[in-house]
Amino acid sequence: MENKNDKTQNKKINRKIVKPPVKTANRTDKRNQSKNPNKRLPVKANAEKSNNRHIRKPSLKPRPLRVVFLGGVGEIGKNMTALECGDDIIIIDAGAIFPTEETPGFDLIVPDVSYLVENAKKVRALILTHGHEDHIGGVPYLLKEMKIPVAGTKLTLALVDNKLREHRINDVKEITLSPDKKVQFGCFKVQPVNVNHSIAGSLALAIETPYGTVFHSGDFKIDLTPVAGEPIDLKTISDIGASGVLLYLGESTNIERAGYTMSETTVGNTLDRLFGENSDRRLIVATFASNVHRLQQIIDIAVKHRRKVALSGRSMHNVLEAAEKIGEIRIPEGAVVDISKIKNMRDNEIVVISTGSQGEPMSALTRMANGDNPQISVGKNDTVIISASPIPGNEKLVYRVINNLYRLGAEVVYESLENIHVSGHACREEHKIMHTLLKPQYFIPVHGEYRHLKKHVLLAKELGMPENKMFIPEIGNRIEVTKNGLRRVENVQSGSRLIDGEGIEDENQSMVIEDRRQLSEEGLFIVSIAVSNGEVVGEPAINSRGFVFDFHRDYNREIREVILKAIDSFDLSRGNIDDFKKHIRRNLRNYLMKKTRQSPMIVPVVVEL
Ligand SMILES: [Zn+2]
Ligand SMILES: [Zn+2]
Repeated sequence: MENKNDKTQNKKINRKIVKPPVKTANRTDKRNQSKNPNKRLPVKANAEKSNNRHIRKPSLKPRPLRVVFLGGVGEIGKNMTALECGDDIIIIDAGAIFPTEETPGFDLIVPDVSYLVENAKKVRALILTHGHEDHIGGVPYLLKEMKIPVAGTKLTLALVDNKLREHRINDVKEITLSPDKKVQFGCFKVQPVNVNHSIAGSLALAIETPYGTVFHSGDFKIDLTPVAGEPIDLKTISDIGASGVLLYLGESTNIERAGYTMSETTVGNTLDRLFGENSDRRLIVATFASNVHRLQQIIDIAVKHRRKVALSGRSMHNVLEAAEKIGEIRIPEGAVVDISKIKNMRDNEIVVISTGSQGEPMSALTRMANGDNPQISVGKNDTVIISASPIPGNEKLVYRVINNLYRLGAEVVYESLENIHVSGHACREEHKIMHTLLKPQYFIPVHGEYRHLKKHVLLAKELGMPENKMFIPEIGNRIEVTKNGLRRVENVQSGSRLIDGEGIEDENQSMVIEDRRQLSEEGLFIVSIAVSNGEVVGEPAINSRGFVFDFHRDYNREIREVILKAIDSFDLSRGNIDDFKKHIRRNLRNYLMKKTRQSPMIVPVVVEL
């Protein structure tokens, strides 16, 4: 086995090295940068010349348009892009991402917004494309750093309001966006464009700048038969394309899927049939709370099949309440009953709509599957429909829930068996339509891991876009867009902030992650030593947790000897307590590594009597 200790050491060092370079902007830097630009970008030989052209009217020359990528590129989640022009910055989305096993125990991860904080005076607004967590989850953390207006559609703002209440943030200026109503933010004129997605009130943004129009797709798909609201506004998108698009920032989530995404209506047809086939059983449907149109379909089908709807899960209540308040969902009189009432109702009179379609550990459905949901116990006469597909990474959790539901005797219907879910993201043919309508001068793919972004660039190339007019961004990149070309300028500080309760850690500098990893992989060793007047008193006490220990060997006695030897070889009257602890730790670590090939976290505790 490798020396794990060395490995850990290397990891720490590497992290420091890969930290993105942060430079203060100055002319020399920029010039150096342009001599050594990203390979994909054309070096503009005439850039100096074109500058000269404008020297005559310096007051009219706007400073360059820049796009700053702070999240959602090279990853799926925590989307955040900023546009900068002169003294104005607008931020598009402030998303969050849920922690993985690489960041154990954290609640949430949000983008590092140091660059925006440094330039807070320039920030005119945060503009939200829609109300999914990967677009609004970071809003409270951004607003704690700067006071800026927040713009979005009614539903998006209603969902943001829920978050702001939780964080006790009030007095935020909110601007309600509706399609085709242009709003000016500094030098940016923003035109919201209606698109389809898996949440109501989703927008693309056409942003007029002094250099031309930047079009940001938001998350979108083309659904010509949506359940509610209008189909994506292809007419306006085509008009915007006809009047010229400088840069297209296009989402890439489903770029690997061929063809077209099915319409939301198909889900309704499947659900209707399943309700018919299960007419004497109790139905439990789990789905994303934020998919308001899906909720609408389930409620309408329940009414048709003379069933009452009960809601299970906090976010289900929150979203339904918010959506009903603003008229985004229509609930027929008496259609919804309180979950406490279902005990007295017959199975064929009820459908429960529940959270937990991703197998989230504390969610309503997971608790049902574990048999510890106080309101619903699942049994043989239940059919559970999971109207969602597992987000990559959640598969294990979801299948664990499905297994447990089967164990309880329930029937389970999930995506691989029936058409009970459709994606909210455009597939390849829809992307081709978008590119063809917009005919942008430059293209930068967003919202995707590197392979998604790469595939999106290749798709655009198929459609005739030259490769030197595209760029695959990484977090922290800053791209200058002029009529002469795309140019990469110096990176900004960027990365992840890890949220744990009230605490916020900077991922680049966090020891907490390393500590948690070490604890979870190698365990913990605590050595308590009592000291009085510079002398060790009594026997050291040794405790370990999560450490695999072979008691057949004489480790226990040997460890004691190692510690006693370490105590003897240290002159407490000369050194201080901190050095003493380090000395104990080093000796014990060397011993454990040699004997057990393990490197638990060692915590010496010295108590002065
Ligand atoms: Zn979305
Ligand atoms: Zn998204």
